[in-house]
Amino acid sequence: MENKRIIITGGAGFLGSHLCDHFLRAGAEVVCVDDFSTGRPENLEQWSPQDGLTITRADVSEGIDLPGTVDAVLHFASPASPPAYLRRPLETMRAGSLGTFHALDLARHKGARFVLASTSETYGDPNVHPQPESYWGNVNPVGPRSVYDEAKRFAEALTMAYRRTHGVDTSIVRIFNTFGPRMRDDDGRAIPAFITQALTGKPLTVTGDGTQTRSFCYVDDLVAGVVGMLHSDLPGPVNLGNPQETTILAMAHTIRELTGSASPIVFVDRPVDDPTLRRPDITAARTQLGWAPRTPVEEGLKHTVDWFRAPAATPVP
Ligand code: NAD
Ligand code: UDP
Repeated sequence: MENKRIIITGGAGFLGSHLCDHFLRAGAEVVCVDDFSTGRPENLEQWSPQDGLTITRADVSEGIDLPGTVDAVLHFASPASPPAYLRRPLETMRAGSLGTFHALDLARHKGARFVLASTSETYGDPNVHPQPESYWGNVNPVGPRSVYDEAKRFAEALTMAYRRTHGVDTSIVRIFNTFGPRMRDDDGRAIPAFITQALTGKPLTVTGDGTQTRSFCYVDDLVAGVVGMLHSDLPGPVNLGNPQETTILAMAHTIRELTGSASPIVFVDRPVDDPTLRRPDITAARTQLGWAPRTPVEEGLKHTVDWFRAPAATPVP
């Protein structure tokens, strides 16, 4: 994709800005389309138009109108943290539905490859563990989280319909919990919440009894997986995530130790329909993309803690 033109919706967000970094470093031209609802201009301030970056402030639900050739469309625009999508339920459903229509139309009209950022939430609260792509999931279609889960499931269905109906070169990645520098301190997801709490001496808020599990992947590895998917001709869905599983309580303890914090751990209410177990089966990514995460979780956590200590001063490793 070097010397190519790549559109990244949600490019000013956490994952999107790391993807912008990757493609700009590789010499591509990148157009970031973002409404800055959870993304930040600072995430891209290291780049200028001379480097090949164009930033277009727009809501993808309203349409994406871009002149010129396009080689790839990476559709990452959507609220992503549970507090963010619970605060903006209708915008979340619009981004997953209308926004995905517009992103797919752009790929169709430009003859571009399309990558949908889907999610492990499509598996809901899974009763198959670990989760392979062949598992259809256990999603409550009317619970509060359904605004995100069902919007992403709709986006996957729409992506496959464009592939079958219009022959668009589509692909779907199901991203499992990913963390790293540039997550917002008010993001609300477990890792940025625990790091922020630990560094400011506030109690670490573990939900329920903390025995629920997640499998956390460092952002650099996730970017490599998305790039691998873009360069392949696979349609997916392909799981991208780290199969190393941990309880949330263990993660809170690890972050307390890594930060040297004396903050207590407190137990708060568990969100409705919060998945009890989550771990990706990454056989497909390993065998078809030759991809697997390489960064040990603790090493990724150290980079992330360093960045949270001095976000402006510390370059992203
Ligand atoms: P993020 O909130 O940092 O990034 C989302 C970006 O999309 C932000 O820059 C936001 O301003 C932008 N955006 C939201 N709605 C928009 C709209 N209607 N129009 C234009 N821009 C809009 O979150 P993230 O973690 O970087 O997530 C990026 C994508 O990856 C999302 O689609 C999310 O569902 C998916 N994903 C992320 C994870 C993860 O662990 N980080 C896991 C699964 C899926
Ligand atoms: N969680 C927590 N404390 C927080 C934020 C989240 O204990 O301050 C829990 C949350 O209930 C879930 C797990 O950590 O069980 C992962 O939550 P996160 O929001 O990071 O991701 P997701 O729920 O989307 O997997």
